[in-house]
Amino acid sequence: MTKQTNKSIHKSHTSARLNTTAAIPNEKAKLLGQPDVDEGQRFKHMHEVNDIPAIVFSDAIVEDCEEFSDPDEENNQDEAWFQVHGKNIIQIIDEEPEPLLQITEDDVQSEIDYWQQAVVGFIVGANPPWQVLEGFLQRIWSKYVIDKISFLPNGVSLARFQSEEMKQAVLGSGHFLFDNKPLILKAWQPDVELTKEVIKSVPALIRIHKLPLKFWGKSLPKIASLVGKYVKSDSPTDSKTRLGFARVMVELQLGQAFPNSIKFLDEKLNVMTVDIEYEWKPSVCTKCKQIGHEKEQCRKNTQQKVRRCGGLYKNLLQCLSHPSKHL
Ligand SMILES: [Zn+2]
Repeated sequence: MTKQTNKSIHKSHTSARLNTTAAIPNEKAKLLGQPDVDEGQRFKHMHEVNDIPAIVFSDAIVEDCEEFSDPDEENNQDEAWFQVHGKNIIQIIDEEPEPLLQITEDDVQSEIDYWQQAVVGFIVGANPPWQVLEGFLQRIWSKYVIDKISFLPNGVSLARFQSEEMKQAVLGSGHFLFDNKPLILKAWQPDVELTKEVIKSVPALIRIHKLPLKFWGKSLPKIASLVGKYVKSDSPTDSKTRLGFARVMVELQLGQAFPNSIKFLDEKLNVMTVDIEYEWKPSVCTKCKQIGHEKEQCRKNTQQKVRRCGGLYKNLLQCLSHPSKHL
């Protein structure tokens, strides 16, 4: 449970106590024959029905009632637990049937300090073996001192650097692609689960074919932004040494349209058309909701076919030995 949730639960516990005492003045008002607006609209009081004068309780009696529901009694109960289990270790929370062990800030601070210099990363649309991913990360971060790289089974990696400055440098070092698929990086945070979180846009490389040479300068970011937000062009494009196509990194929105050609007006108002090739598309599979492949390429299609076949033959090995017959 996070610190915040814990706090909010404890807060509701406190307000529940306050409500107990706050109810007394209302009760007093009702006994004195002054119903609150809501209840007065719904039903009549007994003294009105039976024509018997209302009983008026003195303030002394009401004060007795307040004493009876004294919130300090609950505090005493807390205190009893503390005495048995040690202060700050057990908390009584309204919503929980049993008192709960409480971890303190002091208990977690050293771990938070340790991971503060770490970044969390994952590849969108791929789950490479950890040895391969480690080699890739070591290569792109070769100029930094990596203290540790750890991997989670869900494809998320956690890399700790020697200093906070190095971590910041890594986060600001730009976009990296693994097999044309983007590496998403962010600073580790203590209360955020290490999962491949929902992302809205990813960097990807596009190739612009048939682009006349006069558009390779200031025009290039403008033209590329017709597909996605321009990030940068690669060095052969910058140096104009590979003129077959301009290769540009753009931010693509998940599920956006991926046009194969785009049109624009040149400086003489001629309509120009250029072809776009995507090295990788952040398309969202409608079958498994994963990013990076279309429904037709979805692995789930294959898995289902194997399962169906396995059901027939009761033996997956037998099924796989005749893939052409059964898939
Ligand atoms: Zn899929």
